[in-house]
Formats: sequence, structure tokens, C-alpha cells
Amino acid sequence: MSARIIDGKAIAARVRARVAVETDALLGERGRKPGLATVLVGDDEASAVYVAGKQRACTEVGITPFDVRLGGEASHAEVAAELERLNADDAVSGVLLQLPVPAHLDGPALTALIDPRKDVDGLTPVNAGLLSLGRPGLRPCTPIGVMRMLADAHVQIEGSEAVVVGRSNLFGKPMAQLLLAANATVTTAHSRTADLVEVCARADILVAAVGRPRLIGREFVKEGAVVIDVGMNRLTPAEAGNKSGLVGDVDFERVSEVASAITPVPGGVGPMTIAMLLSNTLEAARGQE
Ligand code: NAP
Repeated sequence: MSARIIDGKAIAARVRARVAVETDALLGERGRKPGLATVLVGDDEASAVYVAGKQRACTEVGITPFDVRLGGEASHAEVAAELERLNADDAVSGVLLQLPVPAHLDGPALTALIDPRKDVDGLTPVNAGLLSLGRPGLRPCTPIGVMRMLADAHVQIEGSEAVVVGRSNLFGKPMAQLLLAANATVTTAHSRTADLVEVCARADILVAAVGRPRLIGREFVKEGAVVIDVGMNRLTPAEAGNKSGLVGDVDFERVSEVASAITPVPGGVGPMTIAMLLSNTLEAARGQE
């Protein structure tokens, strides 16, 4: 078998196009565009690249970007004051604190200060709780991006065995809860799982978010399973040879031989995250006023 490729780039482009049309309609109704504020503390190079990507994506779909930057020495009180200011600003529909923050700051404590109605990353305790209770709220971007990919690829979720490898608050936990809400039977695996191969091999839908290059080999995957690779691992030039330095958590070549559908890296889950951030910003704007 050779797996069908689930093309995240194409699905993300459709999400962005829909957001652009609906943002324009909202502007017509309310006379104001949605706005997204990104808050970057310090000068971490990778974070600055992510923030620039988010700012650019906003502009492309007609969302007003607000680029808030604080020095690497900013105190908890200073970042908190900035978040409070953005919470109170009607032009700002969504607020995102770029993680990780510098080591002297407490990222989760600061994230918790974001108004849940503007929490477009879906990471505040209020939105995490609403997800856990099965009530409406803003959901984390990468897991809802995966749900969108599964829907687009017409994957049967209800009644399926789903295994999520990874239990982070950012991805693994909300992913498992979204799959559960869609009536899958869900197992969450992690670094202390006794027999990872055996657990993964049960899955009809296998989602890997570990951060270990090509950990998920062919023996982890049941014939015909759908495999979603969330991992983004950067190889050194020596490791990468003449290929792109970005690899997932799944051994794409070998697993493609047994899976029925698979997401590539790059071009799979990655592009969905920013697309769903834009979608969440539009949803947040609709929920305000
Ligand atoms: P994380 O917070 O480091 O969590 C990693 C999880 O993997 C933990 O739950 C850990 O278990 C588990 N784990 C580590 N080694 C393992 C092993 N050998 N066997 C089984 N489980 C193992 O990472 P994250 O933020 O969830 O991200 C995971 C990956 O997804 C990273 O590569 C990240 O770059 C990528 N990611 C991509 C996007 C995107 O937009 N495409 C978004 C988010 C994350 P313990 O809990 O027991 O330590």
C-alpha cells in the first residue's frame, strides 16, 4: 500500500481564503476589521520568525496585526500590564503571548491573564476547562488544525481507535480531548508508556507529537491506519545530507508503505497552525460586541 498524502498546505490555503472572505464580510457589518496582537518578550530568533509569519498572515487575510515587543528583561508586572492593556483595547480581538518567554518569567501564569474571549491560542485555564467540559470556547490552533485535516480527508473518527503520542498542554492533551469529543476511543501515550509499539499499533488514527526525529517506524503502524505527524525537528546539515533539514516524528518513507493516509513534514500539520490562528481570531472577533 502507498499512503494517500494529506496536503496541509492546500487545506490551510482554503482555510485562509475562507477567513479572508468572512473578515471582509465582518468589516462590512461592523465597520471594523478583527485585530490580532502578538506579544513577544525578548529577542529569541526562532520566536521572532514565528511572530513575523503570524503578522504577515494577518495582513494577507485582512486582519489588523499589532506587533507588541518587550525587552528580554521585562518583569512579570510589565508583561502583565501590557496584556491587560490589550484585553481592554476594542481594536484587538485576539491576544497571543509567544512562548517560550525568557526563563525568569512564568509563561503559563502570564497566559492565564489573557481575556478568555481573546485567547486565540486556546491556552488559558478557562478555555482548557471549557474544552475538557465539552463546552464552546476557543481551542488550541494545532489540534483543531489536525481535526480540520481529518475532516477534509474524510477520515472516520467516530468509533475509531485513536492514539496520541505526547501529552503536552499545548498539543497532546487538547488533541486527545477533541478526538474524544468526536467519539473516538482515545489513548494518550507518553515517555513512560510501557510498550509504545504495541499501543500505537492498535490505532486507526495515530497522532505523533513527541519531538523525536522519525521515532514512529513502520512497526508502530497498523495496516491502513491514518498517520498524523505533528513533529517538527530540525536536523543539523550533516544529519540532513542534501535534503531539507526539517523532519517529523514519523519515518515517512517506511510508514507510507502501510498507512492509508499520512501527513508529510514539511507541508502537513505545520501550515494548519497559522491558518487556524487566523480562523480563531475571526471567531473571537465575532464573539465580541
Ligand atoms: P513537548 O511539550 O516536549 O511534549 C512532548 C511529549 O512527548 C511529552 O508528553 C513526552 O512525554 C512525550 N515523549 C517524549 N519522548 C517520548 C518517547 N520516547 N516516547 C513516547 N513519548 C515521548 O512537545 P510539544 O510542544 O507537545 O511538541 C511535540 C512536537 O510537536 C515537537 O516536535 C514540536 O515542534 C511539534 N509541534 C508542532 C506544531 C506545529 O505547528 N506543527 C505545534 C506544536 C508542536 P512526557 O510527558 O512523559 O515527558
